[in-house]
Amino acid sequence: MDYRSDTFTKPSKGMLNAMLEAQTGDDVFGEDPTVNKLEAMMSELFGMEAALYCPSGTMSNQVAIKVHTLPGDEVICSTLAHVYIYEGGGIAFNAGAQVRALEGDRGMITAADVEAAINPDDVHKARTSLVCLENTSNRGGGCCYEWEQIEKIREVCNKHGLKLHLDGARLFNALLATGQTAAQFGATFDSISVCLNKGMGCPMGSVLLGSAAFIKEARRVRKKLGGGMRQAGYMAATGVYALENNVERLAEDHLHAKKIAAALLEREFTGHMLPVETNILIFEVKHPWSPITFRDFMQQQDIRVMAISPTQVRMVLHLDITPEMVDRTIAVIRSME
Ligand SMILES: *Cc1c(COP(=O)(O)O)cnc(C)c1O
Repeated sequence: MDYRSDTFTKPSKGMLNAMLEAQTGDDVFGEDPTVNKLEAMMSELFGMEAALYCPSGTMSNQVAIKVHTLPGDEVICSTLAHVYIYEGGGIAFNAGAQVRALEGDRGMITAADVEAAINPDDVHKARTSLVCLENTSNRGGGCCYEWEQIEKIREVCNKHGLKLHLDGARLFNALLATGQTAAQFGATFDSISVCLNKGMGCPMGSVLLGSAAFIKEARRVRKKLGGGMRQAGYMAATGVYALENNVERLAEDHLHAKKIAAALLEREFTGHMLPVETNILIFEVKHPWSPITFRDFMQQQDIRVMAISPTQVRMVLHLDITPEMVDRTIAVIRSME
């Protein structure tokens, strides 16, 4: 039972069969029908002109940031943003841009904070050119933006001529939790990256969405980064399968997360827990347990969790965690002395 991340999933039989049966071609030549199908499904779903299949969410984000900026530009995001703290300094390495990180709340920033952080047109200052949002926010415990806030940030971007990118690694989780639609997001952002390798259950992959002109340039940058893949249809087939089979079921992960949260909150050793909005739990573990001893005890019961700070543990739900496993996990939590 691996709750360390929703990346610890294995392809199901159905997904493996979809790979076996995939039609493929050379995608660097644009001739892989399954990659083309996945890209078309995603651009249609989001109502965006074009899409690009990338090997990872990191590459999708980095390609987008590179296309939207020039070296020396400034990118506004949260201090907790994946693009800033978990992509190996990629913004500096790949785009030559720098970050203006805003405090925000659980990885979410406001339109007012964005507007206050935009540099004036002054030779001393870096040119602000891009805002990156993350939804759901990973380090924020899987929380979701309210639609009004996103709209306000879009207005600020329009007013100041900034591009707006969404790191939507877990965007499908947000759509299910809030009732917001893919079309709303597609109409509002200049670019969106969506992971297939999280709760969607694929072994790899992410899709980057945007205008036809943006994706044309993104395809060029993906190639430069070594992300042009040949018979990628074998992998893209997992994405097609996941879109058809694994989206609605994410709601089950959200229910499981709430059940485990309720069991944890019955225990005195559970300290502050971030609000559980989707499939991620982040909570403090207190005396007589600590994040490390909690993790090690769980591991002895065949349950893997992650100690993510000196005070906090993270657990993430996904399609390889069954209702029976959730029940057993709750029994273990109740048994802890
Ligand atoms: C996982 C993740 C990514 C991309 O991760 P890859 O492992 O490179 O696919 C990007 N943003 C967020 C918020 C993530 O959780």
